[in-house]
Amino acid sequence: GYSEELARRLLERIRSVDGELNSFISVNDAAAEQSRSSSGREPLHGLPIAVKDSISTRGIETTAGSRILKGYVPPYDATAVSRLISAGAVVLGKTNMDEFSMGSTGENSAFGPTRNPWDKSRVPGGSSSGSGAAVAAGLALAALGADTGGSVRCPASFTGTFGLRPSYGRVSRYGLIAYASSMDQIGPIARSTRDLALMLSIIAGHDPMDSTSSAAPVQDYMAALNGDVSGWKVAVVKETVGEGIDDRVSRLFWGAVDAISGLGVDVDEISVRWLDESLASYYVVASAEASSNLARYDGIRYGLSPQHSGDWRSYFSRVRGEGFGREVKVRIMLGTYALSAGYFEELYLKALKVRRLVADELSAALSKYRLLLSPTMPTPPPRLGEKTADPLSMYMMDVETIPASLAGLPALSIPVGTVDGLPVGLQALGRRMDEPSLLTLSARFE
Ligand code: GLN
Repeated sequence: GYSEELARRLLERIRSVDGELNSFISVNDAAAEQSRSSSGREPLHGLPIAVKDSISTRGIETTAGSRILKGYVPPYDATAVSRLISAGAVVLGKTNMDEFSMGSTGENSAFGPTRNPWDKSRVPGGSSSGSGAAVAAGLALAALGADTGGSVRCPASFTGTFGLRPSYGRVSRYGLIAYASSMDQIGPIARSTRDLALMLSIIAGHDPMDSTSSAAPVQDYMAALNGDVSGWKVAVVKETVGEGIDDRVSRLFWGAVDAISGLGVDVDEISVRWLDESLASYYVVASAEASSNLARYDGIRYGLSPQHSGDWRSYFSRVRGEGFGREVKVRIMLGTYALSAGYFEELYLKALKVRRLVADELSAALSKYRLLLSPTMPTPPPRLGEKTADPLSMYMMDVETIPASLAGLPALSIPVGTVDGLPVGLQALGRRMDEPSLLTLSARFE
């Protein structure tokens, strides 16, 4: 059938071009065969998709970009994956990523950096680097990523693809390797809004295996594609197009905003407080949660387990010393520090208070406006190596994407053009569970 042929060709294409891009960590050689047997399943009929390597796939190695999980083969599928498979999808392979989703460029992977198909000297964004690159390079029709502080939206922006971070709780996190559980959310990356809507329709909904998944009814995302935007009130957040934003990005962004008003949308400019502080809040909260989530990698239950004769303590230290990369160790130390007695109030509790302020500010703005608009990323994709020497400059890349994460709100990155041959994304941020409005706006940018 058609899908089987497609899967076969994509596997060949991956073999011929992915050596350079490095967007896949593992490839599922059985994909073509599986596609044949899934061809009768509605609505995807054997469609091959790529899956971020932090999302569990039964029988396919799942490493989260880390040496510590090398060789780990999950005995079950994440709910998002099992739903896609039931709908006829086939997993073509697992995509490269920053180790445990910690990064914004894809360079923190234990399996080497991913390259941007638009310009191979540049990064494709992270942490879902391989999902963005694979979709942009035509190695997969669509992909699953996961977004904690921007990891779906950033690679979408840098690779000229569409990427959606759903509302917190909209998609089950069961089977997603945890980074910062209060913000982690699985989301699709695709080449059209239609494909995003289709993927979301399949993966959204309550899951008894994830107590944070929402029981709110799943809306008709396909119908949202044909929605009308005229008469909508939206706002550009001034702080997101000011200092620190590349001029070329601002120009393209304002051009897209003009196009949106041309559709009969009423566009205001507003100010939102606490956005500057949200970056610090995010990195404290995310590191604190990561330090707790990553305590389970002890060399006994999963992955890496070298021969060792000492006691458990020295074994544990050795496994973690060898298994985790530098950035992961930094975050575990930062998080442990922020949670320790004496610093808990000063750091962690304060970060939670800022998080609340950001969420309240955004919800006040969203009570007046249907959507808030900003650039997705402050710059076009940087060159490989440009950000690695200075972690703070890497963290700063997330200023635009982090507020939605802190507040649990949905946000979609729409490709709005290129500067000097490099893609730029516009981010639309919506009300909780209002993915339909994001899709309606995005569908106007085909
Ligand atoms: N760059 C951010 C971080 O490293 C966000 C990554 C993500 O969303 N997983 O935490």
